[in-house]
Amino acid sequence: MARFIPALARRAVPRYTSYPTAADFSDAVGPAGQATALAAVPADMPVSLYVHIPYCRALCWYCGCNTGAAGQPERQARYASTLMREAQLVGSMMRGEVVSIHFGGGSPNALPAALFEQLVGHLRNCFATSEKPDIAVELDPRFLEREYCDALVRAGVTRVSLGVQTFAPDVQRRIGRIQPFWQVFEVVRDLRYAGIRHIALDLMYGLPGQTIDDVAETIEQAMRLQPDRIAMFGYAHLPTVLPRQRAIDACLLPDEAERFAQSELAFSALTSRGYSSIGFDHFARPDDSIAIAAAQGQLKRNFQGFTEDAGLAVIGLGASAISQFDHLLVQNEKHEAAYRKRIDHGRLAGYRGIVRTQEDRMRGEAIAALLCNGSVNLVDIANRGGSAADSFTPSLPALGELEQHGLLTREAWQLTLTEEGRPYARLAAAALDGRRGGAGTFSNAV
Ligand code: SF4
Repeated sequence: MARFIPALARRAVPRYTSYPTAADFSDAVGPAGQATALAAVPADMPVSLYVHIPYCRALCWYCGCNTGAAGQPERQARYASTLMREAQLVGSMMRGEVVSIHFGGGSPNALPAALFEQLVGHLRNCFATSEKPDIAVELDPRFLEREYCDALVRAGVTRVSLGVQTFAPDVQRRIGRIQPFWQVFEVVRDLRYAGIRHIALDLMYGLPGQTIDDVAETIEQAMRLQPDRIAMFGYAHLPTVLPRQRAIDACLLPDEAERFAQSELAFSALTSRGYSSIGFDHFARPDDSIAIAAAQGQLKRNFQGFTEDAGLAVIGLGASAISQFDHLLVQNEKHEAAYRKRIDHGRLAGYRGIVRTQEDRMRGEAIAALLCNGSVNLVDIANRGGSAADSFTPSLPALGELEQHGLLTREAWQLTLTEEGRPYARLAAAALDGRRGGAGTFSNAV
């Protein structure tokens, strides 16, 4: 078991799904930069699409996603039509081969099944797509009928992740998401019957009123569903930036020691059942492609979290979607009306972002290596970037603090997290961050 160190566990740090993080974005980047980055994608570059569907049929109080009520079918049809026009515009401006498509949200299954199928077909027409792209979809199992599972298969979907969070009925009531075990069980059965082979579950710790026994019981029940992957996220309570979280009774939130114990319980329960630990919050069966990628040192980190995605750039489509290029991060307009207005005027929807300097790229590579592999050699990265190692100096006091606690070892410029340091990986990443001290509201390190 890793050691609970209160002062470190409670420290607020980014999740580093990108570097620089979205907190560093500004309006200095917009559609012009986005257009230049798209035009620079070479024909032989593998790229991934991220498609954001900002709707849910029922909103959960804990959620930090950019989403809203699905409303009437006309609203969804109008959004899908805008997305299709954006795909046409973006597809006409770039080359590159789409090797994977990820639908996130929100809940992509808030769209009617026929509209979802139409959307996938349209994307395939707008972009040069590999013969069998990996198509992944985030799903809300509360609203997934059997016919929808068939539609997913017809659309070529290869993997899905189901939002579960917890099976404890009391905790479900406190987060505004009622979803009994039998409901998820039937959805998993229907998905497998339809032909979806890869199923992941999203779980959470640190929820209001959640106990360590609840986490253990939820994992027990999750095991009955035999998921290929499990993501175990710590709940981040940030009601000042996420107003819907005000419905959550903050007095019921577990304290830092309890959060830490829940996180460690999840780690030992899942690894003892044969799941490989991936990064700091994912678990996968050893024969799952993400576990194989991790074992081969090929794991990557992007806005979807840890991934084995082969894409070298991510093209974001839809309101708030973020595109990731080597030299640029750019986010689409967040609000649906503003996003639609841009597309209606035939313009790209990027409205803020950041140009990644050479130093940013090296720091980003170092942070991703540390989070994905638990170790990094800064000299190797500097050499690859054609720079001296001290061109992106880490924070030595921050590293020293982790060393003192036995969480990290440092030999020259080789940094390695110890077994005890695993839960504190984001703190080690923060020591390589040259931009912190700026704006941003982040979640606890554990
Ligand atoms: S947790 Fe999922 S289903 Fe609930 S509001 Fe957020 S995106 Fe929608």
